[in-house]
Amino acid sequence: MLFGDSPAPGLVGIAKLAARSEVLEAKRIVQYFEMESRSLLNRTRPGMPFEWSLNPYRGCEFGCRYCYARYTHEFMELRESVDFEDRIYAKSAIAPILTRELKRIDGSKGIAIGTATDPYQPAERRFHRTQAALKVFAQHSGLVLSITTKSNLVARDIPLMLEISRRNSISVNITITTLDASLARLLEPRAPRPELRLQAVRELADAGIPVGVFPNPIMPMITDQPERLDRLAKAARDHGATYFGGGVLFLMPCSRKVFFPFVEKHYPHLLRRYQEKYEKQAYLKGPYREVIRDRIAAIRDRYGLRSGPPHREIASWPDAQGQLFAALAVDRTHAY
Ligand code: SF4
Repeated sequence: MLFGDSPAPGLVGIAKLAARSEVLEAKRIVQYFEMESRSLLNRTRPGMPFEWSLNPYRGCEFGCRYCYARYTHEFMELRESVDFEDRIYAKSAIAPILTRELKRIDGSKGIAIGTATDPYQPAERRFHRTQAALKVFAQHSGLVLSITTKSNLVARDIPLMLEISRRNSISVNITITTLDASLARLLEPRAPRPELRLQAVRELADAGIPVGVFPNPIMPMITDQPERLDRLAKAARDHGATYFGGGVLFLMPCSRKVFFPFVEKHYPHLLRRYQEKYEKQAYLKGPYREVIRDRIAAIRDRYGLRSGPPHREIASWPDAQGQLFAALAVDRTHAY
């Protein structure tokens, strides 16, 4: 209340001023929940570079404007826009469930960690669910594992990854949509700065863990400029990444609800075009996808980068958003 009657007539001095102060911003309150789960590994559809996915958390605090995993909160009757970022569910009993499941599956076909929500989001600092899964993997052999994250917290688990890599293969995909820290702040408000993600690339590479960078999702007219992607690939290579890929933005209805207002606020001149292209479909049609695929391929060649980690070239990833989503629909989850 900036003007008007005092809400506390008995107060005087600073107490009176405080009581009359207008709310500038209400701090977000993130709530964490323990979520019982019957299984952890979800089978993907045929043709994917990995057969299984694992997501230790539901919801993601990073709050990326384009995130399409938001709709997973709808299944829990929660609001995909706000609750997805503020109500985080940590899956329980990771070790016993995963140990049981690993006896039944062929882990050499690939287990991708973090296909839906970020496995190193802030909750992981406290609840260690991803770390619990890695500890289980360290007891096994012959597994092909990959981790996808935007967080430099991943470097915390390098010792565990080295232990895993003695008898398995493991690689890490770091998502960096842009090197521009202010743009990243707008797009991914609570994710670590691009520079911190690059530091994580460096630490992983120095430790001998295969690491790649993905500028996903590539957003038309926002992050798709050749020079931006080129700078990013060069920085990735200079920090020790050995592979690089990129797929075009696709917008589920739940993501449109967040992404369109974002475009309207920060790129009003692009709104109409985004609406025309994405209003009725999640995937872009037309030659744009091929243009991006060729652009990424040329950049890769320029910097001597591969399309995937040494144990498998992920040829489908440059154009993979739709495919990944289709594959992971079984899991009803997916993220960049
Ligand atoms: S895109 Fe990934 S990191 Fe961003 S909010 Fe969604 S799950 Fe989290």
